[in-house]
Amino acid sequence: MVKLDALAIAAHPDDIEITCGGLLINMSNEGRKTGALDLTRGEMGTFGTQADRDAEAVVAGEIMGLSYRNNLSMADSAVAYTQENKLKIAQIIRDTKPELVILPHWEQRHPDHLACTKLGYDACFLSGLKKVDLNGEPHRPRKIIYITYSRTADFSFLVNISNSFKQKCDSVRAYKSQFENKENAKRIFHPGIDVFEYMEIKARFLGQIAGVEYAESYFIKESILIDDPQNMPIASI
Ligand SMILES: [Zn+2]
Repeated sequence: MVKLDALAIAAHPDDIEITCGGLLINMSNEGRKTGALDLTRGEMGTFGTQADRDAEAVVAGEIMGLSYRNNLSMADSAVAYTQENKLKIAQIIRDTKPELVILPHWEQRHPDHLACTKLGYDACFLSGLKKVDLNGEPHRPRKIIYITYSRTADFSFLVNISNSFKQKCDSVRAYKSQFENKENAKRIFHPGIDVFEYMEIKARFLGQIAGVEYAESYFIKESILIDDPQNMPIASI
């Protein structure tokens, strides 16, 4: 099993691409090992067959340069916050040993995303316990960061994705059953805009704040420690 630098965990295929795809592509392009764990196969979605969506996730993962992708086939729109599901994710964390885990933000409109962030956090904790009923050696990721579709304020830091934005869009475009037909795509994607328009507007807005072309925003629960304020990115005036 490959040892990962970063593992993103999300509820539905394409959540990872749309939210944190830029960071995963940045890392992969630098030679680091990245992975995606989808909890469900998106079977409640209006468009596309199960086979379509599974195949699309593989293509999207290749475009993102993932070293690992897995799907736990939990029930779409009914992801349950249970010990059994925590342990399923914890086993993946033990198997892949990521240092960085990316989870959905802790406030969510979709119940699966909410369950995912709670399951993911608990799994990171459980994976580090020696006596828990899991295979392999204990492993606890060093850092958990959070990402979300909707929130564009109060974030903790921005990641420059100017060099990976096009690749990120290509990875989302791989989900043809969802996004190839623009009218269908508007019906899927809350709040009713084209997903590529959404990604462009959000990433440009965040990039403008950072003085770069495109950015993604992330949330953390800890503080950021820096050695040298003189050289902090983003000038004040
Ligand atoms: Zn989702």
